[in-house]
Amino acid sequence: MFMSLLRRRPPWYRRCLSSSATASPIPPTVTRIEKIILDGIKATGPIPFATYMQMCLSHPTHGYYMNPENPIFGAKGDFVTSPEISGVFGEILGVWLMAQWLEWSQSKKPIRLIELGPGRGTLMQDILRVASQFGKDQLKSVHLVETSPTLRALQETRLAASAAKYGCTLQWHDSLDQIEPSEEAYTLVVAHEFFDALPFHVIEKSDAGWHEILIALAEDSEVYPRFRYVLSSPSAAASLLGSSTPRFKDLPSGTRLEVSPASFKIMRKIGTLLAAPGGGCGLIVDYGADKAFGQSFRAFKSHAIVDPFHTPGECDLTANVDFAYLKEATAGLVVPTHGPLTQADFLERMGLSMRIEALTRDKAERDAQHIRMAAQRLVDLKGMGGEYQVLGVGGQPREGVVWPFVA
Ligand code: SAH
Repeated sequence: MFMSLLRRRPPWYRRCLSSSATASPIPPTVTRIEKIILDGIKATGPIPFATYMQMCLSHPTHGYYMNPENPIFGAKGDFVTSPEISGVFGEILGVWLMAQWLEWSQSKKPIRLIELGPGRGTLMQDILRVASQFGKDQLKSVHLVETSPTLRALQETRLAASAAKYGCTLQWHDSLDQIEPSEEAYTLVVAHEFFDALPFHVIEKSDAGWHEILIALAEDSEVYPRFRYVLSSPSAAASLLGSSTPRFKDLPSGTRLEVSPASFKIMRKIGTLLAAPGGGCGLIVDYGADKAFGQSFRAFKSHAIVDPFHTPGECDLTANVDFAYLKEATAGLVVPTHGPLTQADFLERMGLSMRIEALTRDKAERDAQHIRMAAQRLVDLKGMGGEYQVLGVGGQPREGVVWPFVA
């Protein structure tokens, strides 16, 4: 029933025995989440990527984001994100969000801010600083959608003082479903490196229909990694995913796609919140492109790409975001989408250079250089500036455009 895909490993595949790659010939001991997954597959058979990813990242106690033993962010962690590189990043996102609010709300509507997957709370802290300058008296509530208790605690430490200073409430939610559309408040939504962490399925087309690529036990229990990829028979679930957008309709046999219904559902909810009578806008920033990917799934450990089956629960797992799919999720709602633009275009058109100029004017040369280099990293087209995309949602056109989303 399942076809082994051992011979069809993705190009980035490499056998990896430890975080320092092939340093040790001894396979790492079985992690706690790995044991749970191995036992589950033994009992009920191969599992979708989505199940594997959800277990590895979000298992209530052993998941990557849930376990306080994982360093996750920063130089000592597994990856660094834009808000952690320079406070200017969050400031510019904040300026865009508040500019839409000012444009919409000459009557100064109350503001509620929602962030999905706030990490250490750094981005929200920078956005709050800007929001308080534009509309301090209107800033009412901050909603943080976060599943990890460990990260919630970090966010509280980071944000409690700002919230008290600006007179707004801080609330945490397990899911965006817990937040209702508002008649009164203007809703600002931001999601930075959130969608890439959501579970996805991998499907493959053949002349017989859509199959799903599943994760099975390695053929030999002595082999490391302890998992392998197999291809299911054509299935109703795979067909449903393969017909979830017209873009997938005429693709040739052999096409492989990563599809995230979880992302579609959350994006639909974002659209519903922003289309409410209170109005709203949002920014979604992530790596990916305006198209689907087939083999972007990867794992990070200590700033290096490792095999996604390596030490499950101790590595970050991620896949590129299909922004076209996110846009399709808002179809039929009265809320336009804009872009995506590369992060470099977005930041530069929003005045990054002028802001850096102002910030460095009175600084010692060494500090000024540090600020300039951080900004440069955000817009480097060979790195973050080119790989990250910014999607705008909602907002108020001026003379037909929502700046900086112009062709
Ligand atoms: N936005 C931050 C953190 C990115 S890491 C930054 O850019 O630095 C991903 C974040 O999403 C973490 O906070 C993680 O705990 C959270 N997360 C992952 N899956 C989630 C889910 N299904 N629901 C809510 N939060 C989730």
